[in-house]
Amino acid sequence: MKIGFIGLGNMGAPMAGNLAKARHDVTGYDMATVTVDGVTPARSAADAARDADVVITMLPNGQILHAVAAQIIPVMRKGAVLLDCSTVDVDTARSVAQEAEAAGLLPLDAPVSGGIGGAAAGTLTFMVGGSDEAYQSALPLFETMGQKSVHCGPSGNGQAAKICNNMILGVTMIATCEAFALADKLGLDRKAMFDVVSTSSGSSWSMNAYCPAPGVGPKSPADNGYTPGFAADLMLKDLRLSQQAAEASDADTPLGQQATELYRRFVEDEDGAGRDFSAMLPRFEKRGRG
Ligand code: NAD
Repeated sequence: MKIGFIGLGNMGAPMAGNLAKARHDVTGYDMATVTVDGVTPARSAADAARDADVVITMLPNGQILHAVAAQIIPVMRKGAVLLDCSTVDVDTARSVAQEAEAAGLLPLDAPVSGGIGGAAAGTLTFMVGGSDEAYQSALPLFETMGQKSVHCGPSGNGQAAKICNNMILGVTMIATCEAFALADKLGLDRKAMFDVVSTSSGSSWSMNAYCPAPGVGPKSPADNGYTPGFAADLMLKDLRLSQQAAEASDADTPLGQQATELYRRFVEDEDGAGRDFSAMLPRFEKRGRG
């Protein structure tokens, strides 16, 4: 396929590289100077998008996605797929999709889970919103860049799935960290705590696969001084998107709200910026009473 790839950052560069390795004809553009093996550099977003069968965007936020969409939608071929893999708010995903459809394009919102490691290894999970026709056209690309894709319904539903998933992740990480801090105070060994909870009803991905306590459970950012992994700043971004969506749709998400405030304080007022989101554990240790 002829692919235009816009946004060659931490995630986009390895994703574009994997498409090129799979012998797709990939032209890439980033506002920073980035070179990716096998990807032909373009001089602008419009140049990367013109003539492509599929244009993939992997950008920091919804505002930037809107600006880039305005540059590429008018030059894209009718019937081409506009595949946005960034994490953005549901409203932006739906309005970009409407603009694309009006121009005769097939839009998909397909945010990912799996992080930088998954992008490099080609093992991402894609949560996809859009028409069945668009989903089927992009399926071979999901299979190259990832190991699983779920078609979640019409435009915006991929973003909806992503922010609901990450709201659960933020809440369970906080719960796991505060439980470890409480266990410490109660004199419970961390290894015993892990062995019990990871095989009991308190288990979750945060405990079992990404344990925030160093030296316990499988290797995780806690074993690497809390270098991200998944940065607390990105968790805060996703939690804010969940709360924006909750407010717009009148959903009651008290734990999501509390998790957003805790990560806000951690990132903006404490020492959480640039640290992994599991560094909530040393935060609770420091702030323990007495
Ligand atoms: P990044 O900041 O490394 O990459 C974004 C790239 O977009 C940068 O290279 C930047 O120069 C480029 N860019 C910005 N504005 C542009 C413009 N107008 N035109 C062209 N290029 C432009 O971010 P990332 O970590 O690659 O994340 C990308 C998206 O994926 C975000 O929405 C993020 O929330 C989501 N995401 C990231 C992770 C992760 O672990 N990093 C995991 C899942 C989802």
